[in-house]
Amino acid sequence: MCKDMHETLSTFEFFAKFPDEAAARKFFENKRWGGEPVCGHCGSVNVTECKDHKPMAYRCKDCRKHFSVRTGTVLAESRLPLQKWLLAIFILTSARKGIPSTQMARELGVTQKTAWFLAQRIRETWLKDRDNHMGGQMQVDETYVGGREKNKHARETLIKAFGCAQIAA
Ligand SMILES: [Zn+2]
Repeated sequence: MCKDMHETLSTFEFFAKFPDEAAARKFFENKRWGGEPVCGHCGSVNVTECKDHKPMAYRCKDCRKHFSVRTGTVLAESRLPLQKWLLAIFILTSARKGIPSTQMARELGVTQKTAWFLAQRIRETWLKDRDNHMGGQMQVDETYVGGREKNKHARETLIKAFGCAQIAA
């Protein structure tokens, strides 16, 4: 079997693994908390799950604030479903030669502006993790994400990120 096939999931496998928002949320929660939710405001583990997850999935019994796996992470910067965040990570991971933001927008069912925002946030997150020395001096290309030589490292890191979901850390 082709070695590259092990690198990423197929689209079919992605949707089998993450069929809905709950599955995507569980994925991020497990990666971030390892099964025990931690308050994103004060760090307490004295928390309770909210009925119907309204207004958020959890409430902290210490600081009394509501929080979710998004709180305090890049995921809080958009109200987009977590499944779409995950799909965006998957698409960027799979796109061997990069992907136009217009195509990414179509596949995610979002505007090009949103697709661009997601791609930037995802890449920034790992560039921050892996290349602190870059100090946020990221090159910006408004129409194309990934694929270029300068983005190669980022794409490789993204592949790893899909496994360890640093996006939620
Ligand atoms: Zn708290």
